[in-house]
Amino acid sequence: MPYGSICGSPASKADTSTQRQVANAAAQSYHPPMPELKKWFDSVETDRPFETCKVCDQLLPLAAESWVINKHYHRGECIMEYAVCESCRDGVSGKFSESSKTDIRSFLENSIDWEQRMTEWMLLQNPEERLDACVACRSPREKMEGFTISAQFRQDGSLIDGALPLLMCSKCVAQVTASLSKESRKVWQDFISEHFEGPDLEDIDLGIF
Ligand SMILES: [Zn+2]
Ligand SMILES: [Zn+2]
Repeated sequence: MPYGSICGSPASKADTSTQRQVANAAAQSYHPPMPELKKWFDSVETDRPFETCKVCDQLLPLAAESWVINKHYHRGECIMEYAVCESCRDGVSGKFSESSKTDIRSFLENSIDWEQRMTEWMLLQNPEERLDACVACRSPREKMEGFTISAQFRQDGSLIDGALPLLMCSKCVAQVTASLSKESRKVWQDFISEHFEGPDLEDIDLGIF
């Protein structure tokens, strides 16, 4: 899981005025209203939270200690959605080549200003607004042809608040996918064709793994 490791101390290099703002926001009983943000990660198909892992089919709280939800949108429509438990996710990402994992990590580290994002997100009145723009290129959601949103949940069904939840536009996701080796792209395509049906689905870019 690349995200957790790369954003350990987001505010360490922030300037002092930003630090003060962040401290103030935290001091003024910072209890963001999470329900709207969480709602984004309900299944479009059932209009309820996901219940099972797409890969092992187990009930999520039984499958692993955490799980990730990915939803892919194209022209305003959700074209693919799934929950994948931690163990199954490790299984899929473990098949990616070392060089692909390094490439993904370096894209995420170099193309996303995590320090800036984490500071902005902390100051949001409504946490849902973190999905208003691409985490990498900052283009606004309304202007995108497509995007992917991802969130991580813990066993009790609550959102884990960190580098996820995030939204990435399809152009940036395509850049990550393009950096993968042929073998790693095949791992991803196999995952898609094994678990989803649909003529256009082979072209879906990488989700968050
Ligand atoms: Zn699973
Ligand atoms: Zn982008």
